[in-house]
Amino acid sequence: MPVQLLGAGEIRALAAELDVTPTKKLGQNFVVDANTVRKIVHVADVRPGESVVEIGPGLGSLTLAILEAGASVTAVEIDARLAARLPGTATAHGVADGALQVVAADALRVSDLPGRPTVLVANLPYNVSVPVLLHFLETFPELQRGVVMVQAEVGERLAAPPGSKVYGAPSAKAAWYGPWRLAGTVSRQVFWPVPNVDSVLVAFTRDASPRGTDRERLRTFAIVDAAFRQRRKMLRQALADVLGGSSSSASAVLEHAGVRATARGEELSIDDFQRIAAIAGGDLPVR
Ligand code: SAM
Repeated sequence: MPVQLLGAGEIRALAAELDVTPTKKLGQNFVVDANTVRKIVHVADVRPGESVVEIGPGLGSLTLAILEAGASVTAVEIDARLAARLPGTATAHGVADGALQVVAADALRVSDLPGRPTVLVANLPYNVSVPVLLHFLETFPELQRGVVMVQAEVGERLAAPPGSKVYGAPSAKAAWYGPWRLAGTVSRQVFWPVPNVDSVLVAFTRDASPRGTDRERLRTFAIVDAAFRQRRKMLRQALADVLGGSSSSASAVLEHAGVRATARGEELSIDDFQRIAAIAGGDLPVR
């Protein structure tokens, strides 16, 4: 039996049955349009037999579209009522036994996943989208690529190149793992309830080999955080505290790294940040 997707009426009926009133706190805006979930799966190029992780499956609209494409899904949902209901919804919609595994947990804290997923597909809870993405990329090196729906400003920031007005710490940190690109816009009308922000799809591909060790990443991210904490300041001032305690010690490290001491953080690529961290070496604070 082929997998059948959820219709808008069915989604509301399921929510009523579970006594779920969508909350802002958990970023609960459910997609009620079959074309949209199919589009997300298409953009993600989900193939039969692939293992996909979905963060925040909610009532299951996107989950069923991923399963319809022939992939298996590991779904991580924080809302216990939604997590408990999802396997029943899947079975009732033609999903084969074993194709879906549900993990009832906070995605920000999850540290191991069944099914060794290699693809991430999600309509992310908007309030935690960047920390959740960075946590997953850091914790699950087997994730090779993904497509996520996020608030438009967040998606633009994740995909922004250095020098862009919206380039910031999330852009630089995301770029540590590989390239990101905007992959389409999504109408507000496909959600229930209709949100008061626009949404976009953003896609990433992990680099074939990691650009550094965990320690190098933490050092680089410490430089990124310091540079954007005072983003209007020149780097020799913004990085004074983390690079030896004075603007002249910071200038020396920056010069050695081939970066102008008068530049601002928003001009630097992840390569630049990584070089600065490598030269500063063991003196950097790591979390
Ligand atoms: N995927 C569904 C859809 O497209 O209709 C729901 C998407 S809704 C934007 C976000 C979902 O993430 C909700 O089901 C919410 O309960 C869940 N969620 C929120 N915070 C979470 C967290 N920290 N960990 C896991 N799931 C979370």
